[in-house]
Amino acid sequence: MNKGLLFVVSGPSGAGKGTICRELLNQIDVDLSISMTTRSPRPGEVHGKNYYFVSQEEFLRTRDEGGLLEHAFVYGNYYGTPRQMVLDKLESGRDVVLEIDIQGALKIRESYPKGIFIFILPPSMAELRKRITGRGSETEDAINMRLGETLKEVSYIDKYDYCVVNGEVDEAVSRVAAIMKAEHSRVSEDVYALIEKYKEEM
Ligand code: 5GP
Repeated sequence: MNKGLLFVVSGPSGAGKGTICRELLNQIDVDLSISMTTRSPRPGEVHGKNYYFVSQEEFLRTRDEGGLLEHAFVYGNYYGTPRQMVLDKLESGRDVVLEIDIQGALKIRESYPKGIFIFILPPSMAELRKRITGRGSETEDAINMRLGETLKEVSYIDKYDYCVVNGEVDEAVSRVAAIMKAEHSRVSEDVYALIEKYKEEM
């Protein structure tokens, strides 16, 4: 059986990668990895659905036992991708999407270079400011800090395979879906195996 593909959807906070990934799940047959985090659940968030919400002690134990494919410390909390769950799904032929921050994406690039890396960009800094302000949970200083971070983060774009500007969500989702579809037509080891089969059938 062909192995599934690992798609890493990443980009600055507020670029809309979460919204894009949620909508993707409604449109295409793909699994979204559920991360482990030490941050507290927001209203409406469910353990085992949005995240595995764990104590710092449990997070660090899992990390130290090698249970995470990558992890990062983002705005005061730990986040990490459960290793076995993702590898098992890929092995069984399922495509998996990781919606993670840029530090995490760079680590996956080293440990799993076959991954496909998609960078989500906001349409402008003004729009990004509006989106972050709209969440209502951040002070002016925190917003300026995040925008400063964004400028640093976009400098890593050359480590990615694709870049999608999230101006209009539907358009961004259809572009990400198109990338996923196209990646399944890439000339790869699977194609070579198919050609070998043709030879046997001759
Ligand atoms: P939030 O707390 O708003 O859900 O997420 C904060 C940031 O952490 C977002 O940029 C999100 O993509 C990132 N994030 C979520 N899960 C993971 C993970 O497993 N690993 C890494 N490196 N980042 C993550």
